[in-house]
Amino acid sequence: MEKTFYIETFGCQMNVHDTEKVTGTLVQQGFRQVDTIEEASHVFYNTCSIRDKAEQKVFNRLQHSKRDAAKGKVFAVIGCVAQQEGQKIFDRAPHVSLVAGSASYARLPEMLVQLEAGNKRVTGLAFDATEAFDTPFTRRDNPHRAYLTIIEGCDKACSYCVVPFTRGPERSRTSASVIDEAKRLADSGYTEIQLLGQNVNSYRDPSRDSWDFATLLDAVGRVPGIRRVRFTTSHPRDFHKPIIDAIDANPNLCNHVHLPVQSGSTKVLDAMRRLYTREQYMERIEWMRNAKRPIAITSDIIVGFPGETEDDFQATLDLLEEVQYESIFSFKYSPRPNTASLTLGDQIPDEEKTRRIMMVQERQRAIQAKRNVSLVGTIEEVNVEAYHEAAGQWMGRTSRNRTINFRHANDDGSRLIGTYMHVRVTGAGPSSLSGEGLSEQPLLGESVAPDAEGISSSARVM
Ligand code: SAM
Ligand code: SF4
Repeated sequence: MEKTFYIETFGCQMNVHDTEKVTGTLVQQGFRQVDTIEEASHVFYNTCSIRDKAEQKVFNRLQHSKRDAAKGKVFAVIGCVAQQEGQKIFDRAPHVSLVAGSASYARLPEMLVQLEAGNKRVTGLAFDATEAFDTPFTRRDNPHRAYLTIIEGCDKACSYCVVPFTRGPERSRTSASVIDEAKRLADSGYTEIQLLGQNVNSYRDPSRDSWDFATLLDAVGRVPGIRRVRFTTSHPRDFHKPIIDAIDANPNLCNHVHLPVQSGSTKVLDAMRRLYTREQYMERIEWMRNAKRPIAITSDIIVGFPGETEDDFQATLDLLEEVQYESIFSFKYSPRPNTASLTLGDQIPDEEKTRRIMMVQERQRAIQAKRNVSLVGTIEEVNVEAYHEAAGQWMGRTSRNRTINFRHANDDGSRLIGTYMHVRVTGAGPSSLSGEGLSEQPLLGESVAPDAEGISSSARVM
């Protein structure tokens, strides 16, 4: 019987990229990917457990899939919920046959053999890989922008976070293997690379070269054919000035930094064990403000951490005003298994967390609306990602990671996808920009061409 698989992904970009690696491995093992559960002989859920809601989603899926299992389908739970719950998943969902965390994906072919042999309880739960999972069989979804993991796991211990338990200790790849992969990606036509890691800037080259993150970042940006390099997520504690110097010196490095602050109150940051104060965080913001190229800064915010007083919360709102983020992700604190903050007193009621998150989002919306209006009239270099036929519009992304929908005289909906072009911003809302496409830029070559007034587009953004 033909082996087919359906895979659904929950959570962050690391999980999306893990799915690309798992997909490549399955295809290499003779499986064919299908679009629906009905067509599949094997169903994979690549799960997220960062907040309770994300975890519940997979158990809801499993609840509804019991009947499919009776028809002989194989169910696999992989990723963070698998690592966190382990064997308990078999008790909660007895029709699941494979439970494996991300540190065990290198053993996936071996686990598939065990499944094939009829084993109904296959697990991969040890942190047995000393190196980051790297496979030549990665099946990437996007033909122009490629994810590239440089470091896996996390050696920090934020008191609210499950990641150190679900993804294990930090393992960096060698700089040589990262550069090799970047070259292979450029040779296959990718022009944009996004370097990934839970704390991407904690990268430490395990080879004798001993590159730090800034050195690696700059080197990836100099691979011929690569025009844009992004990176996420940066931890403030390990965010050093050479990263800004690299962005200043190398126009292929996108001028966008995602630097999650979590809270504006040093007291809360301390309880979160974030390893920096508000002042130290603001020092990093100052470095970015003083950069030669204006750098877009985005962040994550948690509201309602145990013990967060009204004054602490106000400090977070004040910080939003002070930094003027380009955009943020905001979350209500969610108590997670095994984490240190579970035992803290003074838990904040859910209605209060809801009130706080709404205030954060309202404040940020106003900041973004103001920032976006100030961009009207500027010219941005855009990487064209999609064409929306119904609206007759293209969608692209600027170096600062802004989404822009635009029209262009050339209305042949696919030819521009993957190219870089200049777009004049003509309208702005709180979460996106609209514009009109100017002449097409050559796909590769100079990174930012001067416009008619001789000012480079990225220098005009602010
Ligand atoms: N390593 C990154 C850092 O330290 O900034 C963050 C990675 S984590 C996967 C992504 C985001 O999820 C965090 O920045 C935090 O805002 C949020 N998060 C993590 N644990 C959470 C929890 N228990 N409740 C609410 N939000 C949480
Ligand atoms: Fe979680 Fe903190 Fe590690 Fe980020 S640094 S993944 S928030 S433990």
